[in-house]
Amino acid sequence: GITMVKKKICMLGSFAVGKTSLIQKFVTGIFSEKYFTTIGVKIDKKTVVTDGNQVELLLWDIYGEDKFQKVESSYLRGSSGYLLVIDGTRKETLDVALQLKERVEESIGNIPFIVIINKNDLKDDWEIDLDSVRKLFVDKAIVIESSAKTGENVEKVFEIIAKKVLE
Ligand code: GDP
Ligand code: MG
Repeated sequence: GITMVKKKICMLGSFAVGKTSLIQKFVTGIFSEKYFTTIGVKIDKKTVVTDGNQVELLLWDIYGEDKFQKVESSYLRGSSGYLLVIDGTRKETLDVALQLKERVEESIGNIPFIVIINKNDLKDDWEIDLDSVRKLFVDKAIVIESSAKTGENVEKVFEIIAKKVLE
């Protein structure tokens, strides 16, 4: 029979950067202003087609504020790639993202990732700019702006990570 490739993708980033909102927008098309702080891990699924290949993305989202501080290797295990999310309106979330990247590499090595600077609908309030983030991630990282609110680049980032994990 036909077997569909499944790939685990983790959402990583400081609290309230928009990890849950990006998944929500991608999977359901809905954006909510509410902030949920449920504890635990939630896994959403969505199939994307890239270069004629179907891949089912298993999107792992951590709820709660504290877990990001100490991303456990049990959460990362089996990941094919990850989205590293920054909130453009809060510079400290960039530092958290850089630390998280180090932690992933120590824990499971170099796997594909995309850096997302989210909340670009609030660009007047941004404390970060795209070019300086690109310079910080030296190793040819893909850095993309998005908005879970307007949907800008939301599908695109998941399609790009799907493509990268299939390479
Ligand atoms: P998480 O902790 O990283 O999962 O962040 P959430 O997805 O829960 O989002 C935190 C807060 O930021 C919520 O109030 C969301 O409505 C809001 N939010 C998320 N993404 C965006 C965005 O792109 N634009 C704006 N304006 N708000 C956003
Ligand atoms: Mg969340």
